[in-house]
Amino acid sequence: MEKLQSVRGMNDILPGESSKWEYFEEIATRVARQYGYKNMRAPIVEHTPLFVRSIGEVTDIVEKEMYSFEDKLNGEKLTLRPELTAGLVRAAVEANLTYNGPARIYTSGPMFRHERPQKGRYRQFSQFDVEAFGIEGPDVDAEIMMLGARILRELGIADYRLEINSIGNAAERNAYREKLIAHYEKTPTALDDEAKRRLHTNPMRILDSKVASVIEINKTAPNLLDSLEAESRTHFDGLQRLLSDAGIAFVVNPRIVRGMDYYNRTAFEFVTERFENPLTICGGGRYDGLFEQLGGKPTPAIGFGMGIERVLMMLADNLNVGAIDAYVVHAGDGAATYAMKLAENLRNSGLSVALHAGGGSFKSQMKKADASGARFALIVGDNEVSAGTVAVKPLRNAAGDAIQGEQAIITGSQVAAHVRGSN
Ligand code: ATP
Ligand code: MG
Repeated sequence: MEKLQSVRGMNDILPGESSKWEYFEEIATRVARQYGYKNMRAPIVEHTPLFVRSIGEVTDIVEKEMYSFEDKLNGEKLTLRPELTAGLVRAAVEANLTYNGPARIYTSGPMFRHERPQKGRYRQFSQFDVEAFGIEGPDVDAEIMMLGARILRELGIADYRLEINSIGNAAERNAYREKLIAHYEKTPTALDDEAKRRLHTNPMRILDSKVASVIEINKTAPNLLDSLEAESRTHFDGLQRLLSDAGIAFVVNPRIVRGMDYYNRTAFEFVTERFENPLTICGGGRYDGLFEQLGGKPTPAIGFGMGIERVLMMLADNLNVGAIDAYVVHAGDGAATYAMKLAENLRNSGLSVALHAGGGSFKSQMKKADASGARFALIVGDNEVSAGTVAVKPLRNAAGDAIQGEQAIITGSQVAAHVRGSN
């Protein structure tokens, strides 16, 4: 039979790697809760028009990246979500979530985009996502960036840059569009086919181009910030003041336009230079018009999506996350039952314990204990069973480094305290 493999660009996350995911999710979730955000979950499949209308017809995502299909039974056009905001706002409108005031929420899960897979770019990828519904800002704009920065700080990631921009309101962008079109029309030969096609439909998308000749003319493109009027200007100045007061380093990058049409005013990205090319690990912005566009009441809002795979690329390799406290090794008559009770008792006291299964010599079991990453091997033989003791051998220190520790004989009831005491 033909060998079945995973779908291109969709990765298995195997046990070792998966511990890192859990580590990330634990920290990100805790931080989001610390800021008073609450979890919510929306479906992975939505009606296609939701994304077409909100993200925008002339965008990379809608033009070429969506996994769309027709429901076989009723012909409904459906799409695997390429991002979270549209679905969350759809759900919030449907449930009238902001009826009693603002809602701060976080969620996470898989996204689907038909892209060319490469390091840090996949067809199924995951985001940790934070949204604040119903607050005009700029206070909450700063808050959400502080939240993102705190997640990265707690993960031990420092080599990134927070870049912010304001893309104004619809009227300001219209004025800017005209200037931008005029700029591109001066050097039409520099535009590739895609840029030409977008020139009159969505010229701001051209600022996002990765084509060399377009990048070149983008360098002299007019600056959107110059088209901002007083209110947007004040909002943006306020955001910068708040970030400075909070001690959050940032740079203004007028080139950030983001890949969705629903954004207005604040747009921001956390970018790292750790790899060959600059990599955006988190992107977000304000979308004050989206609720109304999707049939809700006017509700200012802002959010970000953090690319989990990209953040994990930046985690140290020696985290020893998901390591267990002890691995129980046992051989001999009666030892199996004794060992199982020992393991259960230790779990009752909150420790994580793997019990060896499948038999084998002490030597081969000790190899498994070493490989498990456990801090202790707990060894049970006939002698221990009859004496009610356990031979405890330290394998790693609290930092997870392998050590050559002295084996000690401990009374069964004292093992939990002994293991715990070495924390
Ligand atoms: P890029 O410019 O890299 O294509 P984007 O602007 O399309 O990114 P967003 O839609 O803003 O990205 O998504 C938010 C975050 O999700 C990105 O900053 C990135 O970390 C992550 N991300 C986006 N697309 C992918 C992908 N195909 N694979 C892995 N992570 C991704
Ligand atoms: Mg993209």
